[in-house]
Amino acid sequence: MTAIVDCPVCRRKTEFSPANRWRPFCSERCKLIDLGQWAAGDYVIPGDPPDPEQPSDASAVPPTRD
Ligand SMILES: [Zn+2]
Repeated sequence: MTAIVDCPVCRRKTEFSPANRWRPFCSERCKLIDLGQWAAGDYVIPGDPPDPEQPSDASAVPPTRD
């Protein structure tokens, strides 16, 4: 059985399992926010896939690392 927790940052239902590398957060973004590493808001996380529905949020350099 998989435990479901609320992301401490955005309160989204998040799977708390080895499959979720960011647990207990829902994403790397929320983890970084919680760690206080989130910059002014224009910081782009390497490896974060661009969202085609929000091109303005993915206008920076594409990820270069695997
Ligand atoms: Zn979250």
